[in-house]
Amino acid sequence: MAEFHYRSCNLCEAICGLEITHENGRVRSIRGDRRDPFSRGHICPKALALKEIYEDENRLRRPLRRTGDGWREISWDEAFDETVARLREIQARDGRGAVAVYQGNPSVHNFGTLLSSGELLKALQTPNNFSATSVDQLPHHFAAWAMFGHPLLIPVPDIDRTNFFLILGANPLASNGSLMTAPDIVNRLEAIKRRGGRIVLLDPRRTETARAATEHHFIDPSSDAFFLLAVVHTLFAENLVDLDRLAGFTDGVEILREISKAYTPAAAEPLTGVPAAVIRRIAVEFGRAERAVCYGRMGLSTQKFGGLCQWLVNAINVLTGNLDRAGGAMFTTPAYDILAATKGGAIYDRWRSRVRGLPEFMGELPVAALADEILTEGAGQVRALVTSCGNPVLSTPGGARLERALEKLEFMVAIDIYVNETTRHADIILPPATGLEVSHYDVIFNLLAIRNTAKYSPALFPAADGARYDWEILQTLARRLTGKEEMGPVAPEARLDFGLKFGKYGLSLDKVRAAPHGLDLGALEPSLPERLFTADKRIALAPEIIVGDLGRLAAELKKTTAPADEFPFALIGRRHLRDCNSWLHNAEVLMKGKNRCTVLVSTTDAEKLNLRDKQLVRVASRTGAIELPAEITDRIAPGVVSIPHGYGHARAGVRLATAARRAGVSVNDLTDPETLDELTGNAAFSSVRVSVKAV
Ligand code: SF4
Repeated sequence: MAEFHYRSCNLCEAICGLEITHENGRVRSIRGDRRDPFSRGHICPKALALKEIYEDENRLRRPLRRTGDGWREISWDEAFDETVARLREIQARDGRGAVAVYQGNPSVHNFGTLLSSGELLKALQTPNNFSATSVDQLPHHFAAWAMFGHPLLIPVPDIDRTNFFLILGANPLASNGSLMTAPDIVNRLEAIKRRGGRIVLLDPRRTETARAATEHHFIDPSSDAFFLLAVVHTLFAENLVDLDRLAGFTDGVEILREISKAYTPAAAEPLTGVPAAVIRRIAVEFGRAERAVCYGRMGLSTQKFGGLCQWLVNAINVLTGNLDRAGGAMFTTPAYDILAATKGGAIYDRWRSRVRGLPEFMGELPVAALADEILTEGAGQVRALVTSCGNPVLSTPGGARLERALEKLEFMVAIDIYVNETTRHADIILPPATGLEVSHYDVIFNLLAIRNTAKYSPALFPAADGARYDWEILQTLARRLTGKEEMGPVAPEARLDFGLKFGKYGLSLDKVRAAPHGLDLGALEPSLPERLFTADKRIALAPEIIVGDLGRLAAELKKTTAPADEFPFALIGRRHLRDCNSWLHNAEVLMKGKNRCTVLVSTTDAEKLNLRDKQLVRVASRTGAIELPAEITDRIAPGVVSIPHGYGHARAGVRLATAARRAGVSVNDLTDPETLDELTGNAAFSSVRVSVKAV
């Protein structure tokens, strides 16, 4: 007889509630759980992939060892023994830094991984620690740390109560919200308009979100800092700065006033492509709105001035009194509060990368430096790599070069469920149980959610015979490395229960488990200054370390603004609702339909280049070239082209379904690891200069 199972989807940040019908160990259907108080029945097509991942024949269930001509299944003990022996031997010979670690984006969607990976890092004690954080979100953490004292104290747009939602470089209708967990985003945005509010979007592309917005304006890629500074300028010029109760614990307002004097809307117009009158009007409307919030995401974070942009987004919310106010940008108080177990303080520039001298932040180095650390000979060279749920060959800048670097490693171990573009270079692959086989509690995305909620999802199916969970793999490696193997791995539920009991709501795992559809713990509430982690419990509106980066922005002005003839276009990324970076492409249900890996070219540019729709074109940059079909559209600004990320599975040796291997090319064969946001170390994918030519 069919049974129902309720859980949160952990495939993206929205953590939608699912109702899964199953019978005799097979999934019959996956629907949105209408009784989930947060997602209210909403799901997206990606949720259906959970069934396919569970049944996927390409998914690994036993450890693999690379042989001369392929792969051989080995036992867990053999896999652990060899991995630990090789890592120990390399570190003993060449030092701690000879082993690097890369953790991919799925790590934060799995509380077992998240709560256990620290143990492995502690065992390895390597300075060469990398993750997907420096791919797209370091600027948020950096601004939060510099202004509020903790890199995880990131303000979340309170979109259920706002009347003015100013969005830059974000497409929540495709992402379902990012660093803003907001399931059912479509209806939440519609509700803003129904209550008479406005949604104003600036993006070089007229995205899915533009259709939901009340107005959309094209903005030149990577010029957002100039737009935001002009907004700040206008707020001061029009006497719209009113910090309200924040004035009692905010420093730096006058510094910001001085800084913004030079950045008039008129000065911003030629740099951003947004008319001065439009910038001024948006700033005035924002300043006068009763409840307003400014939010910027990928387009702002993955550019050369990401740190400045996220600082200015926060600053605009502070200057208008909209930080920590209903309808503005608020802080969560989650039931399991990971902030209580982590720290702010001195977490920047404690060491630097060996080759390029890039500073660490939060214990990590920018992943754009990883290939250099492997390829550049000398003391401290990276000789071995541990990857956990990551595919940096497709997801980090200069993927083709990184791939060449992986070939040079002495040893690589990958914790992953597929033989993909990255793991095919591993000596050993350790595949964890996944998806419907694991329990779930969202430790990270409840911290970034627009409401306080709590939900625990038990595993639906047992792990395959002999399979191990992520936390077992990570803890076993750590304990064998440190000679403490007699201590067995501990399930993350124990830590979760402890955290819930000491959390604000006095919950426990049993209490949360008793509510299978989830607990609604209420709307976000003002929490400042108590929630601040700065030593003086004050907001630093003009932190020196960020203000100092304005010199780099000013220097940008002095550079010629004429695009180089060789590479006349600015390349930006994009994401489709059916894509989740590189990691769901083996699910047929998500891959069917028309080819999504196209380069968007504006109608104006297509005419100049004499291109036809669907024509194969060659897109080239300083670092590489790829070929893919053109999609000609008026939905992108002239001079800008857009390619989605996460594709490029056609490489030899990748064990994915045919549909995945046929789908597209990797945009990261074009991106440039040399170009970073120098302040934060985040990769700068946005505005890579490229040429487009018919093949
Ligand atoms: S929006 Fe995200 S969390 Fe919701 S069903 Fe889709 S993939 Fe899952």
